[in-house]
Amino acid sequence: MTGTETASAILTIDLGAVADNWRLLDERTRGAECGAVIKADAYGLGMDPVARTLAAAGCRSFFVALTDEATALRRILPNAAIYVMNGILPGEEALYAEQALIPVLNSPDQIALWQRAAATAGRRLPAALHLDTGMSRLGLTPDEACTLAADTAPLAGFDLACIMSHLATPEDPENADNARQLALFDSLRGALPAARASIAASSAIFLDARYHLDIARPGAAIYGLTPLIQSVNPMNQTIELQGKILQVRAVDRDSAVGYGATHRMTRAGRIATVAAGYADGYLRSLSNRGGGYFGDVRAPVVGRVSMDLITLDVTDVPETVAYPGAMVELIGPHHSVDALAEEAGTIGYEILTALGRRYHRRYVGGTT
Ligand SMILES: *Cc1c(COP(=O)(O)O)cnc(C)c1O
Repeated sequence: MTGTETASAILTIDLGAVADNWRLLDERTRGAECGAVIKADAYGLGMDPVARTLAAAGCRSFFVALTDEATALRRILPNAAIYVMNGILPGEEALYAEQALIPVLNSPDQIALWQRAAATAGRRLPAALHLDTGMSRLGLTPDEACTLAADTAPLAGFDLACIMSHLATPEDPENADNARQLALFDSLRGALPAARASIAASSAIFLDARYHLDIARPGAAIYGLTPLIQSVNPMNQTIELQGKILQVRAVDRDSAVGYGATHRMTRAGRIATVAAGYADGYLRSLSNRGGGYFGDVRAPVVGRVSMDLITLDVTDVPETVAYPGAMVELIGPHHSVDALAEEAGTIGYEILTALGRRYHRRYVGGTT
């Protein structure tokens, strides 16, 4: 393991902030259960430490996308309820039954598959049912849900753990599609056997309590991303990314910087070359757009982001601050994940899940 002294970039993950964020969401959804979505390696923060931290904070229900994520999580949390949102595929039934994974059944075929598995196992098996109320992505269509409501025999043999749906526009409280999806969801599940209901991911938790239902399933907000694009982010930042300066060079006016010479100096100055690039998840779209921070002082990314390197204009940063070996804040208290995402023309989710594997990772403040 590389010590932090030799690491060229350090990703610090604050598990205390992760736990605090979950508690805030749990408090906000009081009366409902608050679960946690930890797919995609807990949005890039690391499933193992995040899962342990959330379980210690009191979280009991975990949502992943993939079967492999579910089996990895089962090794960490022997007793948690584990929902697999992408559904179950033929051949996976025995594994699900053995490891007590809860498949989110997204189609009549998946329902039939899991019913045969229950018959084979000779016992009731847990299942969740996903109704598509306006995403055209996963889940039973409203027609399929109505057919199932008219004849619920395909659900025999299940412990129906939850009926869920997913909103398309929850980050926009003004969008009437939210209420329309909720109303459709309520009417469809009203015709189905009674089960706990779930529609709220991070943003919908902040819409209003009608969306909380029985189980909330936030992801992004746990990791500090804003659930409210229009107002102040109530969540705590959970990561900090620092890159190490490798070189600082004096450059003349008109000097070209980086591949493609996309930046030319408009004055003589200094360029700091920092060891982080698109191979580390510092997206190439941050070329000539991103920035590093020395305290409050922003040093803009000039030129293209390359695979392992970025170049910052540090002309306005004192030489005693920006020198070879010094660390610069790429994500942190002065520059949130959401702010960086905006510069990259993307969303915080993509910044987090793109975080590379090369960083030296430092977990602080929690259960590892
Ligand atoms: C990813 C996902 C979530 C979590 O969404 P966030 O916006 O990250 O809170 C919840 N439900 C489903 C179906 C998802 O795919």
